Amino acid sequence: MDHVRALRGASGDLDEICRVASGMLGPRTDLEVTLWVLDLDGEHLQVEARWPPRPRDAGPDVLIDVEGHGYGRLLAGGEPVRADARSLPVGWALDGAGDTLLVPLAVADRRPGVLVVSVPAGAPPLSDDEVAAASGLEERLALLVDHARLLIGARRSSVRQGILRRIGERALSPESLDGLEQLFVEDVRSAIDADAVIVYRALPDGVNAVVVAQVGFPAVARPGREFPLSPHTLAMIGADRDEVVAMDVDAAMYADTLAAAVGAAASCKVVLRPKGETPVMLAAGRRASRMFAGPDRRFLAAAAQLLTTAIELRSSQAKLRHEATADALTGLANRAMLYERLHAAITTADLTGEPVALVLADLDGFKLVNDSMGHTEGDRLLATVAARLASVVRPDDLVARLGGDEFAVVCSRTDERGAVAVAERSLEALGGAIALAHRRVAPRASVGVAVYEPDATRAEPTDVRAVATQLVQQADVAMYRAKAAGGSRVAVYDAVLDQQVRRRLAVEEGLRAALADGALTLAFQPIVDLASGRIRSMETLVRWFDDELGHVSPGEFVPIAEESDLVCDLDAWVLRHAAAQMVRWIAAGAQMERIGVNLSARNFAQPGLAARVSRILDEVGCPPGRVLVEITESLLTEGVGPAAVHELLAIGIDVAIDDFGAGFSSLAQLKRVPVRYLKIDRGFVAGLLTDPTDGAIIRSTLALARELGKRVVAEGVETPEQLRELGRLGCHLVQGYLLGRPSDGATAGRWLMQGLDTPLAELLAAAGHP
Ligand code: C2E
Ligand code: CA
Ligand code: CA
Repeated sequence: MDHVRALRGASGDLDEICRVASGMLGPRTDLEVTLWVLDLDGEHLQVEARWPPRPRDAGPDVLIDVEGHGYGRLLAGGEPVRADARSLPVGWALDGAGDTLLVPLAVADRRPGVLVVSVPAGAPPLSDDEVAAASGLEERLALLVDHARLLIGARRSSVRQGILRRIGERALSPESLDGLEQLFVEDVRSAIDADAVIVYRALPDGVNAVVVAQVGFPAVARPGREFPLSPHTLAMIGADRDEVVAMDVDAAMYADTLAAAVGAAASCKVVLRPKGETPVMLAAGRRASRMFAGPDRRFLAAAAQLLTTAIELRSSQAKLRHEATADALTGLANRAMLYERLHAAITTADLTGEPVALVLADLDGFKLVNDSMGHTEGDRLLATVAARLASVVRPDDLVARLGGDEFAVVCSRTDERGAVAVAERSLEALGGAIALAHRRVAPRASVGVAVYEPDATRAEPTDVRAVATQLVQQADVAMYRAKAAGGSRVAVYDAVLDQQVRRRLAVEEGLRAALADGALTLAFQPIVDLASGRIRSMETLVRWFDDELGHVSPGEFVPIAEESDLVCDLDAWVLRHAAAQMVRWIAAGAQMERIGVNLSARNFAQPGLAARVSRILDEVGCPPGRVLVEITESLLTEGVGPAAVHELLAIGIDVAIDDFGAGFSSLAQLKRVPVRYLKIDRGFVAGLLTDPTDGAIIRSTLALARELGKRVVAEGVETPEQLRELGRLGCHLVQGYLLGRPSDGATAGRWLMQGLDTPLAELLAAAGHP
């Protein structure tokens, strides 16, 4: 009865059941009791417990196929069988056993397993009492074992469910793909109690495979290791049904190199066929000869399914990634990939000390092809250019399309000379004619080169992203210079030039803003009549203070403004405000003939200048007869210039030729265009007393003016000596720092009302005027 209670107490613990059962067989101590338990599928008998316990590695535990060897009949018949273990077909499962009793356990319709009692080989056989005792345990044990078997099954399946869930989550989570396979094999191993698990992938050659991940194998089977597929695996791959195949060591087909490597006695394997990939094998092995039963195989099938999903997901992400890094039209790398490669190249450069070069090519006149021949032809041209570019670079250089008709090549370990060679080869390769619809086109490009030279002395780490961005910008600057110089050429980035270009851009941008937000002001400089000492006119000069650039001189920004149409807006702004000032001075009673403004030649390019000027003057109420415009002499010889000058003169505006003598003047034109004034460039005035040529030019200008009936203004008068000499030569008007610096409206107004700070007579006296 004690034993019966003990048996009940052991409920669920098969080892304990075994121990108690062995105690119930009598006092003999050399008996071995094992419990063979039917798995939940009813397919296999599995040795689940034995008493006395054997160390795990003592020998293989067998998994017995119920269908084979009459065990199915034994279980169904329910009668104990007495045999010599060596005569049993699975005798090796009872290593060293002699007389053996197999008691099929049965209660109602349940057949949970077999109780096996044996004695060691050569020992006295089981006694009748012992056989009776063992046989008598049949029903009670059946109940307990059935219960335990269900418990074990449930526990195992819930653990497996948990593991499957974990594998599933990981398979589907896009972030944690790294190391997925390794975690996978470890999970599978613990779930099905295997000693080794491996995932390997067939190579495209169809006969070799590569290890993806493994656990429990010797270190040589590391991921990436290639090995030939076994005939058995090849057969599985060739078969059209994918089921988990379990094998024990007896199976003739069991000749798997990998299983051999771990000394597996039992293994199972399944082929995964992820879409668009080569087949992948998942295999598990046990050193003990315990075959993988139904639940193990079901688990493996489910895990394989999840792994298939993970692989498919990963390959579709890789495809997406490829699409994200490749240019769809040309198949070259795209901008993102270019930066990725640049980052890597710069990092490497810092380690090796070797430079990285970036070559940037922009097609010349591509827009024309695209617009005139259509986008299909444009695309064909781009694809051809891409192929040609790719053909001239080294295999490890990266060619990318940055968008539009812009291409780039990243050249690792390349200095400026090497990069220029690449750039020139590219230009040459591009040059051949391409037959497009109705036309042959020879692509041309402007190519910019920039080089990153790692600085070994730098202590702080390189900001790789910043360097890459800068390199692209520099190559871009060089490319634009190549384009500005006419295209179809190579330019190398130059830091000094870059500074100038940047400054230019900053000035242009700043000026555009200044015109809008009123950061411009006006300065006025008196023009004085040498005979009377009175202010005849004021030249208006624009002034610009920028918060970032500081004071920018018109000598810098006017030529920049002249390159765009900005200068016309600028001049209009100046004219409007200068005329408005003139109106106020007239109202205040100032005795001044005209207000002077500078008009850039660009104003003359568009017709209707006189009309535009007079509209502005009308708006501020300034009569054209109170305005003088200064123009450059080139206008008199160019295109519409003379006609426009005539129009200005016709509405009453006076015209002065600025910087006279600095350019080429046509006397014939001077005669035909009745401008009233000539302004002698201040360069000649500066040299008047020191440079005989300058003096000669001034004298001849004055002679010419007398001949033509023009009046002369000498600019840039800085000393009393210059003033006296100009007076002696018969110059009519003078302007310069000596008489008054360009000053704001208030100062200029005071000069107008109260005279110059120093009267002309005093200035002349300072020079010892007689
Ligand atoms: P510009 O028309 O020849 O103007 C005379 C320049 O000589 C002015 O320079 C003036 O400040 C400077 N100057 C006057 N007296 C002396 C002197 O005694 N010594 C020296 N060394 N310089 C003297 P600023 O104001 O820098 O103007 C430079 C140029 O910018 C002008 O040359 C003119 O071509 C252009 N500019 C100025 N304002 C305007 C404008 O409103 N519109 C246009 N289109 N151009 C303008
Ligand atoms: Ca001027
Ligand atoms: Ca001038």
